[in-house]
Amino acid sequence: MVIDQLQSSRGSSLSLPIKKKHKDASMSESLTAQQLLRIRGKLEAIVADQPGTKHADSATAALQRMRSGEYGYCIECGDEISAARLAARPDVALCVDCQALKDEEDEDA
Ligand SMILES: [Zn+2]
Repeated sequence: MVIDQLQSSRGSSLSLPIKKKHKDASMSESLTAQQLLRIRGKLEAIVADQPGTKHADSATAALQRMRSGEYGYCIECGDEISAARLAARPDVALCVDCQALKDEEDEDA
């Protein structure tokens, strides 16, 4: 009887740790508002200059993430993408680790 009670109370209080995607509501510390503006300009230029290309598609997706406040975070694992990486490839959606994994998959396919 006592054991039954213990088990049921343990079962009801079962809770899994929830992984936080963002540390807080503020944007990435490593990207300044000015950098974001410049990156947005680059993305808009890609969409305008190369309509219908894969590059334009990923730039459009990056602009959407920027609007929803998710820009600068890996879409796979939620980690922050470094400002240097974003500056070099503004439409990048994956952190270096996830990109490396994806590249391996692409090679296998
Ligand atoms: Zn990642």
